[in-house]
Amino acid sequence: MIDLHLHTTASDGRLTPDALVARAADAGLTIISVTDHDTTAGLPEAGAAARRHGIRLVNGIEITAVENGRDIHVLGYFFDPSEPSLLDFLRGQREARLRRLSRIAERLHDLGYAIDVSALIEEYSHSKGKAVGRPQVADALVSAGYAADRREAFDTLLGEGRPAFVPRGGASVADVVAIVRDAGGIASLAHPGLMRLDDAIAGFAASGLPAIEGWHSDHDAEATARYKRFAETLGLGTSGGSDYHAEHSHHAAGIGSVTLPADAFADLETRATSSRRPRPE
Ligand code: AMP
Ligand code: FE
Ligand code: FE
Ligand code: ZN
Repeated sequence: MIDLHLHTTASDGRLTPDALVARAADAGLTIISVTDHDTTAGLPEAGAAARRHGIRLVNGIEITAVENGRDIHVLGYFFDPSEPSLLDFLRGQREARLRRLSRIAERLHDLGYAIDVSALIEEYSHSKGKAVGRPQVADALVSAGYAADRREAFDTLLGEGRPAFVPRGGASVADVVAIVRDAGGIASLAHPGLMRLDDAIAGFAASGLPAIEGWHSDHDAEATARYKRFAETLGLGTSGGSDYHAEHSHHAAGIGSVTLPADAFADLETRATSSRRPRPE
């Protein structure tokens, strides 16, 4: 069983890479990818744990791109995690996340929410590559008693259009696709159903997007069938996974509940390898 979309404490998941891999192995998964937001910091620990459990870890990432002011999540797989241009880009992404965090903190302060975001800023400024995001702010709001859970914190304060929402800028989907490809990997448009991106898929494909996520905990059977048809029509690969962050999180699915068929995985890997340009020694 294959799950190519999992989060850890390197970004907004609640399990350490070690604990996540143990949970995945327990659930019967044999191939997994850890896809933290804008960071590869969890991959070494996840790789070591995967070796101990006898399962395969595919290098993964979930990068936030921006198109017309909207966040678009782009997954990347099979890349070389030591590629300097990728690492530089991701460092910039995390710096932008910290700047955004400061602005969200100002908003919350002005709105009268007494939470200590400076502790988060401090923690993630010196975190050796961990990526901060709104979910960690949501956790602080929950701890302070302002929201029951992450979802409520997004619905009342942090989500798009809510009072503490701070817009962001960032790289386009085409730029992110190229960054992943130049690191030897393949990009896949994350959860198009969740982001209501059907009308944009053909345009992304025309500008080089090589794959889309067909299987996801927020895609029902009808949506998965639709994205498979999109992929066939446009000649794209397909990826899939649970997007597990934590038990009782926004993506309710547990580890192992959403899996990618083996033939789709093999096709994705072939596409990643065959689009790889010969690299200078
Ligand atoms: P950010 O990276 O700061 O843009 O935060 C986006 C992340 O927040 C997503 O990757 C999800 O993991 C999480 N998220 C988005 N919407 C919600 C929600 N309604 N409830 C809980 N978490 C959410
Ligand atoms: Fe997330
Ligand atoms: Fe996502
Ligand atoms: Zn995700």
